[in-house]
Amino acid sequence: MVSLQRIRVEVPDTPNDQRAILAIEDLSFSPGELTVVAGPSGSGKSTLLNVIAGITPITSGSVTVLGEKVTELQGSRRDAWRRWTVGMIFQDFNLIGELSPLANIRLPESFGKVAGAATNASSLMKRFGIPEDRATVSHMSRGEQQRVAIARALLFDPPLILADEPTASLDTKNGNFVIDALIEEAAKGKTVIAVSHDPEFNARAATTIHLDHGRVVRKDSAR
Ligand code: ADP
Repeated sequence: MVSLQRIRVEVPDTPNDQRAILAIEDLSFSPGELTVVAGPSGSGKSTLLNVIAGITPITSGSVTVLGEKVTELQGSRRDAWRRWTVGMIFQDFNLIGELSPLANIRLPESFGKVAGAATNASSLMKRFGIPEDRATVSHMSRGEQQRVAIARALLFDPPLILADEPTASLDTKNGNFVIDALIEEAAKGKTVIAVSHDPEFNARAATTIHLDHGRVVRKDSAR
Protein backbone atom coordinates (compact mmCIF):
# COMPACT_ATOMS: atom_id res chain seq x y z
CA MET A 1 0.00 0.00 0.00
CA VAL A 2 1.17 3.49 -0.94
CA SER A 3 -0.48 6.32 0.91
CA LEU A 4 -0.14 10.09 0.59
CA GLN A 5 -1.47 12.42 3.26
CA ARG A 6 -1.80 16.21 2.93
CA ILE A 7 1.03 16.47 0.43
CA ARG A 8 2.16 19.87 -0.78
CA VAL A 9 5.09 20.49 -3.08
CA GLU A 10 5.73 24.20 -3.49
CA VAL A 11 8.17 25.96 -5.78
CA PRO A 12 9.11 29.66 -5.91
CA ASP A 13 6.69 31.55 -8.17
CA THR A 14 7.44 35.22 -7.63
CA PRO A 15 10.24 36.41 -5.28
CA ASN A 16 7.68 36.65 -2.48
CA ASP A 17 5.38 33.81 -3.27
CA GLN A 18 5.29 30.04 -3.62
CA ARG A 19 3.20 27.99 -6.04
CA ALA A 20 1.93 24.50 -5.19
CA ILE A 21 2.75 22.11 -8.07
CA LEU A 22 1.26 19.23 -6.09
CA ALA A 23 -1.51 19.48 -3.46
CA ILE A 24 -3.00 16.12 -2.51
CA GLU A 25 -5.20 15.66 0.52
CA ASP A 26 -5.50 11.90 0.77
CA LEU A 27 -4.62 9.35 -1.90
CA SER A 28 -3.74 5.68 -1.74
CA PHE A 29 -2.67 3.03 -4.23
CA SER A 30 -3.51 -0.62 -3.72
CA PRO A 31 -1.14 -3.56 -4.11
CA GLY A 32 -2.10 -6.07 -6.78
CA GLU A 33 -3.38 -3.30 -9.06
CA LEU A 34 -2.24 -1.22 -11.99
CA THR A 35 -3.14 2.42 -11.41
CA VAL A 36 -2.79 4.92 -14.24
CA VAL A 37 -2.18 8.59 -13.49
CA ALA A 38 -3.53 10.83 -16.24
CA GLY A 39 -3.83 14.58 -16.76
CA PRO A 40 -2.65 17.40 -19.00
CA SER A 41 1.00 18.28 -19.41
CA GLY A 42 2.22 20.18 -16.35
CA SER A 43 -0.51 18.80 -14.07
CA GLY A 44 2.00 17.23 -11.66
CA LYS A 45 2.10 13.60 -12.81
CA SER A 46 5.90 13.22 -12.85
CA THR A 47 6.15 15.18 -9.61
CA LEU A 48 3.72 12.72 -8.00
CA LEU A 49 5.85 9.71 -9.05
CA ASN A 50 9.01 11.42 -7.85
CA VAL A 51 7.43 12.24 -4.49
CA ILE A 52 6.40 8.60 -4.02
CA ALA A 53 9.96 7.52 -4.92
CA GLY A 54 11.39 9.93 -2.34
CA ILE A 55 13.21 11.92 -5.04
CA THR A 56 11.33 15.24 -5.02
CA PRO A 57 11.33 16.92 -1.60
CA ILE A 58 7.90 17.82 -0.26
CA THR A 59 6.98 21.04 1.53
CA SER A 60 4.59 19.28 3.91
CA GLY A 61 2.66 16.04 4.38
CA SER A 62 3.70 12.41 4.44
CA VAL A 63 4.17 9.48 2.08
CA THR A 64 4.02 5.93 3.43
CA VAL A 65 5.06 2.92 1.35
CA LEU A 66 4.53 -0.53 2.87
CA GLY A 67 4.61 0.91 6.37
CA GLU A 68 7.76 2.98 5.79
CA LYS A 69 7.44 6.76 6.07
CA VAL A 70 9.44 7.68 2.99
CA THR A 71 9.24 11.37 3.76
CA GLU A 72 11.15 10.80 7.03
CA LEU A 73 14.01 8.84 5.47
CA GLN A 74 17.18 10.84 4.89
CA GLY A 75 20.13 10.57 2.52
CA SER A 76 21.69 7.13 2.22
CA ARG A 77 18.86 5.40 4.13
CA ARG A 78 16.40 6.74 1.59
CA ASP A 79 18.63 5.70 -1.31
CA ALA A 80 18.90 2.16 0.12
CA TRP A 81 15.13 2.03 0.68
CA ARG A 82 14.53 3.11 -2.94
CA ARG A 83 17.00 0.57 -4.29
CA TRP A 84 15.17 -2.37 -2.70
CA THR A 85 11.62 -1.08 -2.88
CA VAL A 86 11.11 0.85 -6.11
CA GLY A 87 11.56 -0.18 -9.74
CA MET A 88 11.45 2.83 -12.06
CA ILE A 89 10.69 2.81 -15.80
CA PHE A 90 10.91 5.88 -18.05
CA GLN A 91 9.64 7.01 -21.44
CA ASP A 92 13.17 7.20 -22.86
CA PHE A 93 14.44 4.04 -21.14
CA ASN A 94 17.50 5.69 -19.44
CA LEU A 95 19.81 2.90 -20.58
CA ILE A 96 23.57 3.17 -21.08
CA GLY A 97 23.90 2.81 -24.87
CA GLU A 98 27.40 1.32 -24.96
CA LEU A 99 26.65 -1.46 -22.46
CA SER A 100 25.14 -4.84 -23.34
CA PRO A 101 21.54 -5.70 -22.46
CA LEU A 102 22.70 -7.87 -19.55
CA ALA A 103 25.07 -5.17 -18.20
CA ASN A 104 22.21 -2.64 -18.34
CA ILE A 105 19.85 -5.00 -16.53
CA ARG A 106 22.49 -5.55 -13.83
CA LEU A 107 23.23 -1.82 -13.37
CA PRO A 108 21.41 -1.77 -10.00
CA GLU A 109 24.21 -4.07 -8.79
CA SER A 110 26.81 -1.31 -9.36
CA PHE A 111 26.79 -0.73 -5.59
CA GLY A 112 27.57 -4.37 -4.88
CA LYS A 113 26.60 -7.84 -6.03
CA VAL A 114 23.27 -9.17 -4.83
CA ALA A 115 22.59 -12.88 -4.29
CA GLY A 116 20.17 -14.24 -6.87
CA ALA A 117 20.35 -11.17 -9.13
CA ALA A 118 22.36 -12.92 -11.88
CA THR A 119 19.79 -15.73 -12.08
CA ASN A 120 16.97 -13.22 -12.00
CA ALA A 121 18.59 -11.20 -14.81
CA SER A 122 18.81 -14.21 -17.10
CA SER A 123 15.26 -15.33 -16.39
CA LEU A 124 14.00 -11.76 -17.07
CA MET A 125 15.88 -11.78 -20.40
CA LYS A 126 14.14 -15.03 -21.34
CA ARG A 127 10.75 -13.83 -20.13
CA PHE A 128 10.97 -10.64 -22.22
CA GLY A 129 12.64 -12.24 -25.25
CA ILE A 130 15.69 -9.96 -24.98
CA PRO A 131 18.42 -11.09 -27.41
CA GLU A 132 21.55 -12.27 -25.59
CA ASP A 133 23.99 -11.77 -28.46
CA ARG A 134 24.06 -7.95 -28.67
CA ALA A 135 27.25 -6.17 -27.61
CA THR A 136 25.40 -2.94 -26.88
CA VAL A 137 21.80 -1.78 -26.51
CA SER A 138 22.35 1.24 -28.79
CA HIS A 139 21.30 -0.58 -31.98
CA MET A 140 18.39 -2.44 -30.48
CA SER A 141 14.83 -1.43 -31.40
CA ARG A 142 12.94 0.91 -29.08
CA GLY A 143 10.66 -1.95 -28.06
CA GLU A 144 13.65 -4.12 -27.13
CA GLN A 145 15.27 -1.25 -25.26
CA GLN A 146 12.16 -0.73 -23.15
CA ARG A 147 12.10 -4.46 -22.33
CA VAL A 148 15.70 -4.14 -21.11
CA ALA A 149 14.67 -1.15 -19.00
CA ILE A 150 11.75 -3.08 -17.48
CA ALA A 151 14.00 -6.06 -16.72
CA ARG A 152 16.42 -3.67 -14.97
CA ALA A 153 13.54 -2.24 -12.90
CA LEU A 154 12.53 -5.76 -11.86
CA LEU A 155 16.04 -7.06 -11.05
CA PHE A 156 15.55 -6.93 -7.27
CA ASP A 157 11.87 -7.88 -7.51
CA PRO A 158 10.65 -4.59 -5.97
CA PRO A 159 7.15 -4.39 -4.45
CA LEU A 160 6.52 -0.95 -6.01
CA ILE A 161 6.87 -0.15 -9.71
CA LEU A 162 6.68 3.43 -10.97
CA ALA A 163 6.52 4.02 -14.72
CA ASP A 164 6.57 7.48 -16.35
CA GLU A 165 4.94 7.34 -19.81
CA PRO A 166 6.51 3.92 -20.48
CA THR A 167 4.66 3.37 -23.77
CA ALA A 168 4.81 6.94 -25.13
CA SER A 169 7.71 6.34 -27.52
CA LEU A 170 6.62 2.85 -28.62
CA ASP A 171 4.34 1.48 -31.34
CA THR A 172 1.11 -0.28 -30.35
CA LYS A 173 2.57 -3.80 -30.33
CA ASN A 174 5.51 -2.89 -28.12
CA GLY A 175 3.30 -0.66 -26.00
CA ASN A 176 0.97 -3.60 -25.35
CA PHE A 177 3.96 -5.73 -24.38
CA VAL A 178 4.85 -3.16 -21.71
CA ILE A 179 1.26 -2.97 -20.43
CA ASP A 180 1.06 -6.81 -20.27
CA ALA A 181 4.34 -6.96 -18.33
CA LEU A 182 3.15 -4.36 -15.80
CA ILE A 183 -0.20 -6.10 -15.37
CA GLU A 184 1.65 -9.39 -14.75
CA GLU A 185 3.66 -7.66 -12.02
CA ALA A 186 0.49 -6.24 -10.45
CA ALA A 187 -1.04 -9.74 -10.50
CA LYS A 188 1.88 -10.89 -8.32
CA GLY A 189 0.71 -8.45 -5.65
CA LYS A 190 2.89 -5.48 -6.53
CA THR A 191 1.75 -1.87 -6.52
CA VAL A 192 2.13 -0.57 -10.07
CA ILE A 193 1.65 3.12 -10.86
CA ALA A 194 2.01 4.36 -14.43
CA VAL A 195 1.73 7.89 -15.75
CA SER A 196 0.18 7.62 -19.20
CA HIS A 197 -1.98 9.31 -21.83
CA ASP A 198 -2.31 6.00 -23.68
CA PRO A 199 -6.03 5.04 -23.94
CA GLU A 200 -5.08 1.34 -24.06
CA PHE A 201 -3.26 1.69 -20.73
CA ASN A 202 -6.21 3.53 -19.25
CA ALA A 203 -8.65 0.86 -20.44
CA ARG A 204 -6.66 -1.89 -18.73
CA ALA A 205 -5.98 -0.11 -15.44
CA ALA A 206 -7.88 -1.08 -12.30
CA THR A 207 -7.97 2.59 -11.31
CA THR A 208 -7.26 5.85 -13.11
CA ILE A 209 -6.42 9.00 -11.21
CA HIS A 210 -6.84 12.30 -13.05
CA LEU A 211 -4.66 15.23 -12.00
CA ASP A 212 -5.07 18.87 -12.89
CA HIS A 213 -3.00 21.76 -11.53
CA GLY A 214 -1.44 19.37 -9.02
CA ARG A 215 -4.77 18.22 -7.61
CA VAL A 216 -6.74 14.98 -7.93
CA VAL A 217 -9.84 15.93 -9.88
CA ARG A 218 -11.25 12.44 -10.52
CA LYS A 219 -10.67 8.81 -9.62
CA ASP A 220 -12.19 6.08 -11.83
CA SER A 221 -12.25 2.45 -10.79
CA ALA A 222 -12.92 -0.40 -13.18
CA ARG A 223 -14.67 -2.36 -10.45
P1 ADP B 1 3.50 16.53 -15.78
O1 ADP B 1 4.33 15.31 -15.47
O2 ADP B 1 2.04 16.34 -15.49
O3 ADP B 1 3.72 17.07 -17.16
P2 ADP B 1 5.25 17.83 -13.87
O4 ADP B 1 5.08 17.08 -12.62
O5 ADP B 1 6.48 17.57 -14.69
O6 ADP B 1 3.94 17.70 -14.77
O7 ADP B 1 5.25 19.40 -13.54
C1 ADP B 1 4.16 20.03 -12.85
C2 ADP B 1 4.39 21.53 -12.81
O8 ADP B 1 5.45 21.83 -11.92
C3 ADP B 1 4.79 22.14 -14.13
O9 ADP B 1 4.17 23.42 -14.22
C4 ADP B 1 6.29 22.30 -14.03
O10 ADP B 1 6.73 23.35 -14.82
C5 ADP B 1 6.46 22.58 -12.56
N1 ADP B 1 7.74 22.12 -11.98
C6 ADP B 1 8.18 20.85 -11.91
N2 ADP B 1 9.35 20.79 -11.24
C7 ADP B 1 9.65 22.07 -10.89
C8 ADP B 1 10.73 22.69 -10.19
N3 ADP B 1 11.74 21.97 -9.70
N4 ADP B 1 10.71 24.03 -10.03
C9 ADP B 1 9.70 24.76 -10.54
N5 ADP B 1 8.64 24.25 -11.18
C10 ADP B 1 8.62 22.92 -11.37
